[in-house]
Amino acid sequence: MAQTSNIAAQIMADRELWADFNAICDCGGRLAGTESEDRAFAFLEGRAGAATQLSGSSITVPYGGWSAKNASLRLPGGQWVGCHALLRSVATPQAGLTAEVVDLGRGTLQEIAAHAADISGRIVLVRHELMFSAGTIHRRRKYLAALERGAVGFLIAGPIPGQTVAGSCGRLDGPGIPAAGITPEAAAALRRTAGGWATATLHIETEERPAETRTLLFDLPGRTDEWVVLSAHVDGHDGSESAMDNASGLAAVLAVLRALALQVKDFRRGVRAALFSVEEWALTGSAQYVASLSQAERRAITLNVNLDCVGGSPSLTALTSGFAALEPFLLRVAEMSGVPLRTVRPLFANSDHANFALAGIPAFRLVAGFDDPNANVAQVLTPSDTRNKVRESELKQAATLSAAIVAEACNALPQDALEWRRAHCPQPSA
Ligand SMILES: [Zn+2]
Repeated sequence: MAQTSNIAAQIMADRELWADFNAICDCGGRLAGTESEDRAFAFLEGRAGAATQLSGSSITVPYGGWSAKNASLRLPGGQWVGCHALLRSVATPQAGLTAEVVDLGRGTLQEIAAHAADISGRIVLVRHELMFSAGTIHRRRKYLAALERGAVGFLIAGPIPGQTVAGSCGRLDGPGIPAAGITPEAAAALRRTAGGWATATLHIETEERPAETRTLLFDLPGRTDEWVVLSAHVDGHDGSESAMDNASGLAAVLAVLRALALQVKDFRRGVRAALFSVEEWALTGSAQYVASLSQAERRAITLNVNLDCVGGSPSLTALTSGFAALEPFLLRVAEMSGVPLRTVRPLFANSDHANFALAGIPAFRLVAGFDDPNANVAQVLTPSDTRNKVRESELKQAATLSAAIVAEACNALPQDALEWRRAHCPQPSA
């Protein structure tokens, strides 16, 4: 308890947290494979090194490099408008893909099934949803459902007037259909009329080649060979600062390292900071990391604390990935820290914690603004994901809670840590 209040005082007085957040945003949107991502890694390596007095280690992460050279959409009136090629989308033919558009509204699986006979040979149009909400249908599931029914293209309309929406289509290799985020106005222009389905032309030009990025690790050992892994993803999307997603989590990790660095040697377990990339590539960085661990190494990880979108709302939620026994522990530490916290149990495969959870390692994601459509985090994946959506007080609160959870998890009794692991029921969310 005394330790928790010391940590909180240290983070409240930490002026570097806000400066780090701004400096990460200054690097740009950090799309994997861009100079912006390199700048962010260089900055983070320096700052985590300063916090821990350690040089980190890098693990090479091979992945399918991808970039979009061009993306545009011709509306029924003949006007060309900009769109955002979804990450890993295949290209259209050079002359573009011209087809009728079936507007499926939100694009629930019922809507897609009811229109099964309409989809083949046409472009499917759905809506982007609030990502951090119970019952969210991830765009990857809508894309796959459209693909399976023979759609030739996929459009997803963003929620903000005048703005497109980004995100991954979930394809890693092989065949797929061209996929793009569009504005709500473009979606309105593609509505069905008495005359029939609207016809659009989608043009996407891409470049694909094998690429490499890295996972950056900083290890602060404790008294045993067990670890609490504190993670955040570095990569983001072009066209914004990827400020909430995930400059917020990265800046918070640095603040936690500064607050705990000198104490960890006396903790039962050590702290391993893991900065992953290609999270937006279907969680590739963390997937490779977890896959590389032996059973003994997995058992030595007591908990993964994954910070992703921890600014953009003052309300914080822990997505506990089916680890029910972890919830009372998290709520107790939150109460000790004076930070209100809610827990949500289904496994959300929406960030790197999912790969730990699927390997049986207790894992949760801390996220801001869950279930709140009015929170700024609803603007994640749009050009509005900029630093002005985050308050310094939100970052301090998230870092304070994260540091307290990491410290308490490092010192938790072995039988408590075993209990977190034992009672596991990872029900994937819809
Ligand atoms: Zn994220």
